[in-house]
Amino acid sequence: MSSPSDAPARTVDATPSMAQFLAIKRDHADALLFYRMGDFYELFFDDAVIAARTLDIALTKRGKHDGQDIPMCGVPVHAAEGYLARLIRAGNKVAICEQMEDPAEAKKRGSRAVVRREVVRLVTPGTLTEDTLLDARTHNYLAALARVDGRLGLAWIDVSTGDLLSRQMDGAGLPAELARLAPTEILLPEGLVPEIELEHRIRATPLPGARFDSISGERRLKDTLGVATLDGFAAFSRPEVAALGALIDYVEVTQRGKLPLIKPPARIEPDAVMAIDAATRRNLELTHTLAGERRGSLLATIDRTVTGLGARRLDEWLRTPLTDPAPIGERHDAVEALAGDAALRQALRKMLAEAPDIERALSRLSLGRGGPRDLAAIRDGLAAGERLKRRLVDGMPLGRPALLDAALADLGLHGELVTLLGRALAEDPPLLARDGGFVAAGFRPDLDEHRALRDESRRLVAQLQARYAEETGVPGLKIRHNNVLGFFIEVAPRHAERLGSGFAHRQTMANAMRFSSAELADLETRIMQAGERALALELEIFAELGAAVLAEARRIMAAAASVAVIDAAAALAELAVERRWTRPEVDRSLAFAIKGGRHPVVEAALDASGAGGFVPNDCDLGEGRRLWLLTGPNMAGKSTFLRQNALIAILAQIGSFVPAEAAHIGIVDRLFSRVGAADDLARGRSTFMVEMIETAAILNQAGARALVILDEIGRGTATFDGLSIAWATVEHLHDVNRCRALFATHYHELTALAGRLGELANHAMRVKEWKGDVVFLHEVGPGAADRSYGIQVARLAGLPPAVLARADEVLHRLEKGRAGGAGGRLAEDLPLFQAARRTEPAERASPVEAALREIRPDDLTPRGALDLVYRLYGLLGGAAEGGGPDGAIGGSGAGSST
Ligand code: ATP
Repeated sequence: MSSPSDAPARTVDATPSMAQFLAIKRDHADALLFYRMGDFYELFFDDAVIAARTLDIALTKRGKHDGQDIPMCGVPVHAAEGYLARLIRAGNKVAICEQMEDPAEAKKRGSRAVVRREVVRLVTPGTLTEDTLLDARTHNYLAALARVDGRLGLAWIDVSTGDLLSRQMDGAGLPAELARLAPTEILLPEGLVPEIELEHRIRATPLPGARFDSISGERRLKDTLGVATLDGFAAFSRPEVAALGALIDYVEVTQRGKLPLIKPPARIEPDAVMAIDAATRRNLELTHTLAGERRGSLLATIDRTVTGLGARRLDEWLRTPLTDPAPIGERHDAVEALAGDAALRQALRKMLAEAPDIERALSRLSLGRGGPRDLAAIRDGLAAGERLKRRLVDGMPLGRPALLDAALADLGLHGELVTLLGRALAEDPPLLARDGGFVAAGFRPDLDEHRALRDESRRLVAQLQARYAEETGVPGLKIRHNNVLGFFIEVAPRHAERLGSGFAHRQTMANAMRFSSAELADLETRIMQAGERALALELEIFAELGAAVLAEARRIMAAAASVAVIDAAAALAELAVERRWTRPEVDRSLAFAIKGGRHPVVEAALDASGAGGFVPNDCDLGEGRRLWLLTGPNMAGKSTFLRQNALIAILAQIGSFVPAEAAHIGIVDRLFSRVGAADDLARGRSTFMVEMIETAAILNQAGARALVILDEIGRGTATFDGLSIAWATVEHLHDVNRCRALFATHYHELTALAGRLGELANHAMRVKEWKGDVVFLHEVGPGAADRSYGIQVARLAGLPPAVLARADEVLHRLEKGRAGGAGGRLAEDLPLFQAARRTEPAERASPVEAALREIRPDDLTPRGALDLVYRLYGLLGGAAEGGGPDGAIGGSGAGSST
């Protein structure tokens, strides 16, 4: 395929316009080049091929290069944002190249002169600011990773909100942190690229190592923030400074020298947040389901926020459970206060719903990319903030929770700006400043004058048309306007001679003739001038208002943060009331006592489907019962119980109420879950390998403050290998990790360990057997389950009756072989399973087998065959209960030794 990447040698004989294209493309080799040509952005060469494929638009060709057709495709400028969004979502970078002058200007320089063009912006997944390209309810992070003296620093920025943070890492913690942040793009020093394994959703942008220099990074940060030292913000380490510097540098490059407003950088201290590794985060479906959807995730289930600001804050909270009981308690206080006052809460939420996204509007204005609607968003957002404050102060005059009190301090400080914007802007202004029409009447007398003149002139045109029609006696005479001729007089050709000498002929059409007149030309000039002056004035006013907003940028950001916190807290309160959640007690103990806990997502799904009836369960991992071994049938609710306890811990530590009657949780510093099974074939890992990697991480890392949930260890391998691994894992968790843990298993042999391991408590899911079927009660109670009822569940799932009958038969034989309590002995005499490994004695043939051997198939009559079937069925003694003769005959290898 043709590619312009080796363009320099060819530019020698390229046409001037091709030379211009190739030079610009050479500087943006890693981006798709949106090349402005009139009303279109065109793409050429490989860019065109990629874009046409991604956007599903026609790939055409235009001209030749090096004797080959040049592939081309294009998108109209007015609809470019939609196409841009799709290209970016597909992981591309796009360089926007604009015409920097009027083509007429270029023509004046000579016939071969080309219009001057420049790349005005590099659009990359991590540097977006447009609402159409962003999800309003979640952050869009650009991350950077730097390594200095063997230490890693990770920094991240949301260009659309100005949040800038960093954290020092070790290599092992990096995947967890990236899973938490879910950046859309990450900057990596070229040398580090081969060492870093990234999820496919993150676009890696390698940059030369020099961009990650910590000395120049520090200088850049200080310049950007206008400070002499960074110490006032936090004690950033060298690698963090290097990463922060690389971020700022890259943002400036992509925004062509402009920087968005940046909040004071903050640092996440080690151990300040609950560590949740990538697999746990994924398995617990915190912000997305395993299928990658937001719907069905914990976040989607609990999110009651009514603003983009609040939604992003809640999303951030959920990704980042805290480990210090004090700030957690502050959030609980705020939620409790708002949950306890329905009238106040509803009033606040109504006001919040009217508050636009000031944060993103402000970012666009700071980048010179904002429009009148962004100014209106600031006006309405700040005004809503003021109302919020008044209502909160009135509603809670005394004893306001600290979180809300702090939020109030930053609201209602913008009276002058709100008044100014209120006076200046039209109620519902257009998106773009370009065409004017956004300044309110009465704000500036000179603007009103120009507008009056412009509008008056329009009226004069109408008057002129009426007069001309009357004077010439042509009733169909019209004064029209187009972009080529400007204003003109139009009559049907047969009336043309009625127009006297005062009319100059301009154009003859098939069914019309067009003329101009001195009067009309004069009017046109007045209209144009008035319109131009009005527009120029509006643009001037726009710039002034923009400057007025940016002058208060810091305080507006603080107000936005307050709105976000109030919305998030009010939303959690709303949720707590609606779902009957309670305030958990969170402290530094090692307690984990949940009374009547529920799974928030499963319960909501049951309620939504009308089934209702989620069965609450207790869980107490206190002293003497730190490790619960949970047995029970398939489908009985083991996984649900395990997950609900992990989710309750997370919810408690983000400051939310929890789905339980009561909960007492000693801070969990690390959460591990090994649930479900999925292979990772892309990375060459089988299902069992993934399971073992996750288990290894837990056994190597879980400390006394960790909470571990393990579902089905050792299922993906041979029974005895699996049981041995599960066995040793329980012992290790009990003796070495000594953490709070829930361990669900179908290996009932493990329950015998309770006799030997002091902190191990057996619990089981209760079921009832009814007419041969199993009824799930979804209740957790003390004790061990005796069997798994797998075959009953398989029947519910619709396995063929023949398979079920056969499975039943095999199960009976296996159970007979194990009779004698092998599991019980195992706990005492290791090595494991000697007893269970005993080979079974060969058995005598069964009566069915004996009868089968007697058959002479060739001698059987049809009636004889039917009789035989009934006889065989009778010999089974009704083993295939309810299945009829068909079910019983299915076991072709009946009697073979197991
Ligand atoms: P398996 O051993 O097959 O993995 P399991 O014991 O882990 O099964 P779950 O997947 O937790 O079972 O639960 C099966 C279904 O039972 C859930 O999808 C849910 O609909 C229902 N369920 C689980 N727990 C409860 C509960 N406490 N109250 C009501 N329904 C429940």
